[in-house]
Amino acid sequence: MKQVALYGKGGIGKSTTSANMSAALSGMGLSVLQIGCDPKRDSTRMLMQGVFIPTVMDLVRTRGEAALSLDDIVYTGYNGVRCVEAGGPEPGVGCAGRGIIATFQLLEKFGALTGDVIVYDVLGDVVCGGFAMPMRQGYAQEIYLVTSGEMMSLYAANNICKAIQRLSLRVKSKCRLAGIICNAKGQPREEELVTEFARRVNSSLVQYIPRDHIVQLAEVNRQTVIEYSPDSAQAGQYRSLARHVMENTRMSIPSPLEIDELESLIREFF
Ligand code: ADP
Ligand code: MG
Repeated sequence: MKQVALYGKGGIGKSTTSANMSAALSGMGLSVLQIGCDPKRDSTRMLMQGVFIPTVMDLVRTRGEAALSLDDIVYTGYNGVRCVEAGGPEPGVGCAGRGIIATFQLLEKFGALTGDVIVYDVLGDVVCGGFAMPMRQGYAQEIYLVTSGEMMSLYAANNICKAIQRLSLRVKSKCRLAGIICNAKGQPREEELVTEFARRVNSSLVQYIPRDHIVQLAEVNRQTVIEYSPDSAQAGQYRSLARHVMENTRMSIPSPLEIDELESLIREFF
């Protein structure tokens, strides 16, 4: 079983990329489980015909952990992709990472962490213990960073590199940086910049995904691009990502940049 996690700044396109990749992986005949680990709870929506599935956090809050069964938390979506949303705390109280921890404990209890591929879609603005959970204890072993060429998303990606580096030094840790996914904003020389960023943090660009309006079109039709327009160029990009992720064997311990280095790298490409 392959366990991959997509980390990156909020709004950068993790859920769009994860859902399309999961859809593409299912099209390769693989059994896929996607776990949304973001309080925004919309990771799996496009795999579920636009429906926000109940989150583990909400279920635990309203019904109590003991009353829950596997069917309460795992939902089957597009082409058999199994979907879970960790959810988050009520605004203003509690810890966002806790939902992730509760989710993992329940999935473990039900023996539900199974299949050919597990895709973890994780918010990476904060890398507190909760959000680092998928990387710890041998869950997500292959970490992909989703970034554009924008300063703030590279900054977040670099921070996640620090977390991966720290965790990968643990004796039993299997967590490694597997590559960088450029989800482009359409700025000049963006692919070059992200490719160079990837090289400097001791990794490589695994897929360049252009900004394409078809993503929004699919979204308003409550579908992934893979489902909405399987013959489009953008669907081809997501299938290519899925193939690269399955074939990838280049795992590294990242070397995060100092903030000055990161800023001067970005300046170079502006
Ligand atoms: P995240 O999960 O990182 O918070 P989302 O996947 O929800 O981000 O993406 C935010 C928005 O960006 C989505 O609503 C989607 O419409 C848009 N988006 C993401 N990737 C692309 C792309 N390659 N081309 C066009 N729009 C995109
Ligand atoms: Mg998301």
